[in-house]
Amino acid sequence: MSDYPQVLFRNRKPDRIATLAEYRQSGGYEALADAVRNRNPKAIQEELLAAQLLGRGGAGFPSGKKLMTVADDAPFPRYIVCNADEMEPGTFKDRVLIHADPHQLLEGMALAGYAISASVGVIFIRPEYESAARILEREIGLAMGAGCLGKRIFGSGFSFDIVVHRSAGRYICGEGTAQLNALQARRPNPKLPPPYATEKGLWNQPTVQQNVETLCCMPHVIRNGAAWFKALALTPTGAGTKIYGVSGKVRRPGCYELPMGVPLREIIEVHAGGMIDGLRFKTCLPGGASTRFMTEAHLDLAMDFESLKAKGHRLGTGAVMVFDEQTCLVGATLNLIEFFARESCGWCTPCREGLPYVRDLLWRIENGLGEPWFVGALQQMSKHLWHSYCALAPGAASPLESLLTDFPEEVEDHIRHKRCRFSSSAG
Ligand code: SF4
Repeated sequence: MSDYPQVLFRNRKPDRIATLAEYRQSGGYEALADAVRNRNPKAIQEELLAAQLLGRGGAGFPSGKKLMTVADDAPFPRYIVCNADEMEPGTFKDRVLIHADPHQLLEGMALAGYAISASVGVIFIRPEYESAARILEREIGLAMGAGCLGKRIFGSGFSFDIVVHRSAGRYICGEGTAQLNALQARRPNPKLPPPYATEKGLWNQPTVQQNVETLCCMPHVIRNGAAWFKALALTPTGAGTKIYGVSGKVRRPGCYELPMGVPLREIIEVHAGGMIDGLRFKTCLPGGASTRFMTEAHLDLAMDFESLKAKGHRLGTGAVMVFDEQTCLVGATLNLIEFFARESCGWCTPCREGLPYVRDLLWRIENGLGEPWFVGALQQMSKHLWHSYCALAPGAASPLESLLTDFPEEVEDHIRHKRCRFSSSAG
């Protein structure tokens, strides 16, 4: 464990889930009890806004602002939807958070619910997370029995119920508007706002959608205050801590809770233990499969939303996927594009037709069948992918564009020599 303050992981155990009693002993449900007894919903929204808590699902939208978007005179009922549909390659922090300390998420949902006067919360969870879904259902029951959820929470006038909804299992169900369609048993195609979910969301009622990690931060912000939360970050542009999920060729892959703004080098070399087997670092995707590759030149960049944005990168979900110098980036990008092509919902042409075409061109390059004109075609396709209905296709374009601009020699080498020099069969 690092020397940095552990906020979201303070109750994390190596071998089991933190119990309700342990959660309460560590101050759990104090924020909710105080909020429903002594503070009004607006005060909760303002505290979250002042804390500069940005959405941890990838978009980085201020969570306080999202809650404030629900108008005072908006109709009832109102809903909180927790996005636990964590399906992007390399991303696993939400699963770890739920398994470590499930009541943190439940309290965060109740606080978000109180902030917009919602009475129901839905956890939308991917079907592969069945054990997490069962844990949540069991702990919801225990929290209700203890008066922390359900009717008249902590003797106040506020009631809040949480249900767990298992996704049918498509990546696009994690996209906000598609998720609401899925919850209403409709085909999960994204919809272009307006109307926004905070106005007409689930069942056409005001709905706020938040990621697991964002909701888990809320009890700590409300209990300790916005200034405390902001001070956890190492950079003035960051706030709070972040769960960085490191995977790939490192000695200690896993989830690390570190201050927002920690340098990328420290994440990889200190906390994840550096590269395995004496391998050399080549590149990494800093925030999941829909971000650009970062190279050695970026290792000292601060990992927070604004610092990375200023350099043309995205923090995304904080899923750091590390590649060594023996890894073929054409093959790695092909792998990602195959995923996105398979998961396209098929609603718009650039994505439905474009991604399989990109996949085929990359497959041919990787397998020694590439032609020089493929590079121009891929560049053109990466531009078309931005003219799509939702963020899936632009997300898929990010590693592709990065491959073509940051590692052009690797693509050209495949085409010129008609083989992949990283493949074990290459002579
Ligand atoms: S970009 Fe892809 S996933 Fe998104 S709406 Fe278009 S076809 Fe569907």
